[in-house]
This record gives sequence, structure tokens and C-alpha cells, in this order.
Amino acid sequence: MAQAEAVAEVGHARYTYRLRVSSTARAALLAEGDRCRWIWNECVAKSRAVHLHNKASGEKQTCGPAQLDKMLTEARRTAPWLREGSSVVQQQVIRDFGRSRAKAHKDIRERLPEARRAGMPAHKKKREALPSLNYTQRGFRLKDGRLYLAGGTVVGVVWSRELPTQPSSVRVYQDSLGHWYGSFVVPAQVQPLPETGRVLGVDWGVSQTATTTSDPYDLAHAEHGRKAKEKLTRYDRMMARRKPKKGQPASKGYREAKKLRAKAHKKVARRRQDTGRKWAKKVVRDHDAVAVEDFRPKFLARTTMARKAADAAIGATKIALIEMGRKHGRDIRLVHPAHTTMDCAHCDARAKHRLPLGMRTYTCTACGHTCPRDKNSARVMLVRAGFTRLVPTAQDLPERRSGRQPEPGIPSPTGRGGFNNLAP
Ligand SMILES: [Zn+2]
Repeated sequence: MAQAEAVAEVGHARYTYRLRVSSTARAALLAEGDRCRWIWNECVAKSRAVHLHNKASGEKQTCGPAQLDKMLTEARRTAPWLREGSSVVQQQVIRDFGRSRAKAHKDIRERLPEARRAGMPAHKKKREALPSLNYTQRGFRLKDGRLYLAGGTVVGVVWSRELPTQPSSVRVYQDSLGHWYGSFVVPAQVQPLPETGRVLGVDWGVSQTATTTSDPYDLAHAEHGRKAKEKLTRYDRMMARRKPKKGQPASKGYREAKKLRAKAHKKVARRRQDTGRKWAKKVVRDHDAVAVEDFRPKFLARTTMARKAADAAIGATKIALIEMGRKHGRDIRLVHPAHTTMDCAHCDARAKHRLPLGMRTYTCTACGHTCPRDKNSARVMLVRAGFTRLVPTAQDLPERRSGRQPEPGIPSPTGRGGFNNLAP
């Protein structure tokens, strides 16, 4: 049964640091970025040409990394300006391009709806593309706390935390605010936590980001987006007012507004990540295994601002949980979200109709079990991941004012469950 899939063991982790970049280094990195963008765009053009050629002629020519590598060697031989850049970084562009195209092909093969597909790698525009340079082992070294890059560029690193081991590669990139970062790849090291003997089921939602099988671990929607909305709307209006006419370069005011908007967005994203990480830490510390809905955000669907904010919060929290679980060697299972709101967590019967969103209580037509809708879904995650039996246990029977609970499957002496044992 492939209803729940274990999160694949990944052999590496990323450590990202802010970089201190001098004006010389900045110019060198931007020039390197320009050369890389040119190579990327060549890859896009070549790949499209081959595709069109095959379509017209019925041939099956390929355009894999080997051919693209050959193209790069040839281009470097004939163009001195390209040779000024590091070949390590330029070869990585071809690897990145190959990966991006493979992902697009995979999504097409899997027949994902268009809105959720990763598109084919597209042409990068000078004004819009931010530099992102990948240096593999032989393209960088760390010395005296500074980062030495192929081509003679040296940048300072803000060591906000310790790098656990020797990194195998580093990606140097600039974000939309103009800040530079270095993201180091190191072999992942599991930091095991003591066993707890407990499992948790997690369901994602709009009003409550996470509803779990254990109340203290529920996570209310923090509404970071709503609080920042006022600012974002202001910057949006500012940008609209200053929008350049078609074909004209953006004004300084427009670029300023765009930067402010990016800054506000980033702030929201950081808060979401922080909330997610704190929650994930608690969940992972207290449970050996977690079954979690494999929620995929639907940003491209036409939805309300509230829905988008909730989706973003869920996305950030899910990533935090997976990463935290991996870091501490916990068993995190992703459960396919289909029908999780329709199934009964107690008898596995499936409701005939989807529960309308307004209906907050789940009532099973087969066994009569009722409980809050999201709590039922959270428990379905546990069942699907194989972490629990379908038979109800004492703790998840509806609350009774009795100290004694009948064992499941064993008729109580009175034959009527615990209600006859009410304390006087
Ligand atoms: Zn049922």
C-alpha cells in the first residue's frame, strides 16, 4: 500500500551564511553571473532547437549534458570573455539546466495539472535574473574564515553558526534585496534524540495550520501574512503608480518600491519559518514517528488572500518538520492527501460525499463515530502510515465522565459501556 511514503534519507544538509562582499568582489561575482546567464540561455536555445528539429523531422536527436558540455568547451575556446570566468561554475550551469529540464519532463510524464508542473527551463533576462553561482569542491576553499572562489574572488563570511564539517560545495547567490549569501553543502549528521514511544498524526488546515492527534501540539495559524498585508498593499500601490511604460527602463522610485515590497515579503517568510521551526522542534523532540499530510500548495489557483497565506504557512511548517525529523533521525511519513477528510479514522469506512467545508464535525455513517473534522483527518494520517490500529483505544473514545473505560472489543459488564459507571 503506497498510501504513505517515508521521507527519503538524504545524505546532505545546507548551511547558509550571509556574505560580506567588497565592491571588487561584487563586480567579479556579477560578471560571473552574466556569463552564467549567457550559458543558461544558450542551453535553453539549443534545447528548444533540438525539440523543434525532432518535431519537424521525426528524428530523435538528444541534447544532454554531454553535448552541452562540448558546446561550452567550444564556446570557451572561441570567446575570450567567456574564458575569463571559472569553468567550474560554468559547467555547473549545465548540470543545473539538466536537472531543471529533467524535473519538467518528470512532471509531464506524471501528468500533473499544468498549474503545478515545473515549466521547461526558460530564458533568463538580465534585469530579472539574480546571480546564483555553484562552486564544487575544486572551485572554492575556506581559509582564515574567508571564502576563496575560483577566479580569485575573496569574500567574507558571517559565521552565524559553526559549519559542522568540510563542505562539498557552495552556492553563492544574491537575493532580491541585494544581499549575498553562501549556502554550503555538508554531509548530514543525524543527532539522535531519546526514544519516546509516541507517534503523532498531523493534518494541515486554514484556520489552524496544524491539527494533530494530541491537542498540545496543535498549531494555530499565526497570521503573519495578515499583519503584514497593510504594508504590502501600500508597496503594491506604490509600484503601480511608478510602473514604467512599456519598453522604458524602470525609474529609481519604482525599483525602490519593489525593494521595499521584497523586504516586507521576506520578513513574513522568515517569521513563518521561525514559527514552523519552533513547532517542529517540539513535535520531533516528543515523538518517534510523525504521519503528516503530503500537502502541496496551490498558489496558482484562484484563491483568497487568506487561503494563500494559510498555504504559505503550511508550506513553511511542513518543510521545517521534514528537515527537523531528518536532522534528529525521526520517522516522518508523508501521507497522500486524497480522501483524508472523507475516511473514518475508526472503521476505515469512506463517506460517500466530500464533507462541506462549513461542516466542522465528522460523523461516520458506518460506525457512528463522531469527532471534530480535523482531528479525524489527523488520525487518518496515523492509520494510513500504519502507526496505529483502526480499533479505538481508550484515549480517543469520545470524552466520558468516567474513570474506567471499557476495553475495545470486550463488552463491559453492564453491556452498555462506561455510562453505568458514572461516579455519584
Ligand atoms: Zn466509522
